[in-house]
Amino acid sequence: MAGSSARQFDAAIIGGGIAGAGLAYFLGQGQRVVLLEQESALGTHTTGRSAALYTQAYGNAEIRALTVASKAFFDAPPAGFASYPLLTPRGVLLIGRTDQREAVEREVVAAQKLTPHARLVSGSEAVALSPALKPTYIDAACYEPDAMDIDVDAMMQGYLAGARQNGVEVWMDAAVTDIKERNSGWRLETAKGPIDAGIIVNASGAWTTPIAAMAGARAIKVTPKRRTTFLVTAPEISSFASSAATIDVDEQFYFKPDAGLALLSPADETPVEPRDAFAEEIDIAIGADRVQTAANIPINHINHSRAGLRCFTDDKTPVVGFDDDAPGFFWLAGQGGYGIQTSPAMSMLAAALINGQNVPGQLQDRGIDLTALSPARFSANETR
Ligand SMILES: Cc1cc2nc3c(=O)[nH]c(=O)nc-3n(C[C@H](O)[C@H](O)[C@H](O)COP(=O)(O)OP(=O)(O)OC[C@H]3O[C@@H](n4cnc5c(N)ncnc54)[C@H](O)[C@@H]3O)c2cc1C
Repeated sequence: MAGSSARQFDAAIIGGGIAGAGLAYFLGQGQRVVLLEQESALGTHTTGRSAALYTQAYGNAEIRALTVASKAFFDAPPAGFASYPLLTPRGVLLIGRTDQREAVEREVVAAQKLTPHARLVSGSEAVALSPALKPTYIDAACYEPDAMDIDVDAMMQGYLAGARQNGVEVWMDAAVTDIKERNSGWRLETAKGPIDAGIIVNASGAWTTPIAAMAGARAIKVTPKRRTTFLVTAPEISSFASSAATIDVDEQFYFKPDAGLALLSPADETPVEPRDAFAEEIDIAIGADRVQTAANIPINHINHSRAGLRCFTDDKTPVVGFDDDAPGFFWLAGQGGYGIQTSPAMSMLAAALINGQNVPGQLQDRGIDLTALSPARFSANETR
């Protein structure tokens, strides 16, 4: 397909998950941008398989800063972005047994720095907030009342509608199969034909490392780790639907209400190759066992199961910025288990860096450390 028929763009974003869609939205008007997705629908992979939680007391300092900085957009997106609120109240309990008391107390101290309403609650208070919990199991919990459920579909639709209004072209079934430097830009071969772009953005989730290798960019390891969730009938407890999301403080399992059912997870983190991920029987069994040790949630039948790939750099911090080894190659990867809740801030930041602008006002004074996010923190390739 190579030849003079290549379509010309200023920027080509590889990956139509929340990362690519958010950036396409914030890049704004006045540029020729194409969003390339290998599947026939956007958000097919990890974005469509998340637990959809917004919690400020989760992840390392960089994640927490990006999460807090995203709140203003979630609370008040531009007019017409979504018909309903993007966040709805949920609350999160980080629970512990007596032998986990110190871990719970550490979480309370850490959480209170960012979300002042976070507090230590007793076992009985925790049961009142998450009524499926067994009183004999729980000792104490860190309660984050301001944690929310995110409407991920509304986020994706809002981003895409805005991007299209700004003239962004969205190509589905357009897998990128080859990338070469060309005329101070890039030539991409895609399943829908060749593209020339001045800038390419690696927002390809689990495929980040192979895409970077294709372009000869810095060899930054972004490891896909499988995480399983499954849905079962909700327990017959009238207040279960408004129960807080309940997470083991050492992240060994979690459960939360989900559209009339109960969503359970073993909180697995199994490194895998980039691929369409499926829930393994063994992970479902482990999740069922751990949740049932802590909570009264009878499991007679698995209504649905799935797995997504949470992608981590070695320091568990996303990688955002231009590659020093490959001019015009931009990283937007390694969002781990936080890519939805950090999406507004990550996307705004990435757009500003690409457009050569200062960090947007909404993100200033939020403790976002560009050096900690930069690809330059990883060593340069030995040969290039
Ligand atoms: C079980 C689970 C629970 C989670 N819970 C939460 C949560 O509560 N809160 C939260 O904030 N986050 C959560 N996450 C994490 C969140 O889902 C991810 O961080 C986020 O979805 C990553 O988005 P992405 O766009 O980087 O990746 P993806 O959604 O995977 O998108 C990458 C896209 O790139 C495309 N692509 C790859 N290669 C190519 C190619 N060669 N050509 C064209 N396209 C290509 C893929 O098809 C894919 O659609 C959870 C994840 C899982 C699995």
